[in-house]
Amino acid sequence: MQTEEIKKFPKVELHCHLDGSLNEAALRKIVRESDYDIEALLNSMKIRNEAAGLSDYLSCFGAALPFLQSEESLRTAAYELVRQAAGENVVYMEVRFAPMYHGQKGLTQTEAVKAVLEGLEAAEKDVGVKSRLLLCMMRGKAEQLNEETLSCAVEMREYGVAGIDLAGNEASYPPQMYRSLFQKAQDARIPFTIHAGECGSVENVRISVEMGASRIGHGVAIAHDTEMKAVVKNRGIALEMCPASNLQTGAVKQLKDYPWAGMRLEGIPVTINTDNRTVSDTSLTKEWELLDNFFGPIDGQALKQAADYAAEASFLPRTEKEALKKQIAEKAMLLEKQRA
Ligand SMILES: [Zn+2]
Repeated sequence: MQTEEIKKFPKVELHCHLDGSLNEAALRKIVRESDYDIEALLNSMKIRNEAAGLSDYLSCFGAALPFLQSEESLRTAAYELVRQAAGENVVYMEVRFAPMYHGQKGLTQTEAVKAVLEGLEAAEKDVGVKSRLLLCMMRGKAEQLNEETLSCAVEMREYGVAGIDLAGNEASYPPQMYRSLFQKAQDARIPFTIHAGECGSVENVRISVEMGASRIGHGVAIAHDTEMKAVVKNRGIALEMCPASNLQTGAVKQLKDYPWAGMRLEGIPVTINTDNRTVSDTSLTKEWELLDNFFGPIDGQALKQAADYAAEASFLPRTEKEALKKQIAEKAMLLEKQRA
């Protein structure tokens, strides 16, 4: 499929980090002082070489965080992210961030969350794209900070926080270390996804599912594990796959080995996401272009199926999931008609 057609197709994104997706438009509004070189700043947030490894990849976030320490900057970053996604016909997205990283100048986690929600809401009003927020608990951080993030999710769930996540260095901090937090999330009926199987561990995916994760961030490691693939397929646990990022972190050595196509054929609900639009220098259109180059040609059916899987796996209530699927079907059909 041509890039322009991919761009026009209705898409859904479930896995996109706010701090890793601080874009140029936002940065220009946030950084008003003229002594900053915006181009250089953006470059410092991008991963430089492929297969750099997860720790190198995660270090890129350090460049963006100093610019996201006020309510105004968080609002702007969230607003511009949705606006950018709207430009490539994303019709629904779940944005995630770790509120504990935005207190360097005194913001509480709740204040940070409120600011991001305001940005998302303003964008929905202006560009018509619905979005929800996921709060990331962080591996290797004090339990009290993660507890606070969880409480924040409970407190703000009526206002646009749809679920939680666990992010950070998976290799050093396996999911079972956070079992009690996820038990609390389950008790409070907060749905969650966990970054797992990004560093080769099938076991981390198995434990995350057993702990109650209804989606898995990445999950690439299960590609050759028949048993685990059967589990996610049977339970309808969607994998939030992020091709460019998975290549950059070394989760896969080369794109031709990327397990998306194989798992899709096996009927596993695989979704396509950007992970970090700035760090990975990508967009949802670019992700599909990558797949088109290696497994193509990608057709409308593959795009629609991924959007449907994502709508079904979203943390929206049932009626909103169905409305979203209807919206995707209508837009996809309109495009088909225009092409015929
Ligand atoms: Zn991620």
